[in-house]
Amino acid sequence: MIAAAGSGERLGAGGPKAFIDLAGRPLLAWSLAAMAEAETIGSIVIAAPPGAESRAAEIAEGVGVEVSVVPGGESRSASVAAGVAETAGEVVAVHDAARPLVEASLIDAVVSRLEANPELSGVVAAIPATDTVKEASVSRRVVRTLDRDRVWMVQTPQAFRAARLVEVYSRTGERELEGATDDAMLIEHHGGDLLLEQGSPRNLKVTTPLDMRVAEALLSEPGV
Ligand code: C5P
Repeated sequence: MIAAAGSGERLGAGGPKAFIDLAGRPLLAWSLAAMAEAETIGSIVIAAPPGAESRAAEIAEGVGVEVSVVPGGESRSASVAAGVAETAGEVVAVHDAARPLVEASLIDAVVSRLEANPELSGVVAAIPATDTVKEASVSRRVVRTLDRDRVWMVQTPQAFRAARLVEVYSRTGERELEGATDDAMLIEHHGGDLLLEQGSPRNLKVTTPLDMRVAEALLSEPGV
């Protein structure tokens, strides 16, 4: 399931982020290609910006696996909930279109790890923190320094048991959904074991114009 319904406001591109050009293709096309290449993925559901479903379907044409498109919601969680409800498999890999550099091997890794470990509710791509991370109050007063050896920066893809994710979404109130920046958070809250899978620093999230420039550079130099 690809969450692609964001507005792209912070990017300032004047339109939905999923459709902006990145190294010659719409941003969404990159993660679609990786999903289609992944051996563990049987079909793809895209949550598109409402009203732009046909544009998303156009981008997905000829991708090589079955793709369906649903209108996204007002928050990321609402978009994921809409998309996951349409997925067919026992396991679902949720991915943000905003991470166009994802590789098929990472998608396969999170799905296979979940399939191989029946006791887990989800497997989440993440990289170890390289910066020192501090918790602060709203007025920026430092509360504590987190132990860097145990801090991970979480990415997508994130693989879940589809039925469990649908259930957790149905039990979560609107306020919590709005505040959820990933799906693993909801499983943490409602109960379920999650495992981190080593992601890649290349799998960056395109949020700002600087991220776009970095992503363009990485895509034009695949070895970096
Ligand atoms: O807003 P944020 O950068 O956290 O978005 C992460 C991902 O969630 C992006 O791929 C974006 O397209 C998606 N999203 C969505 N529906 C929304 C908001 C964000 O699918 N309403």
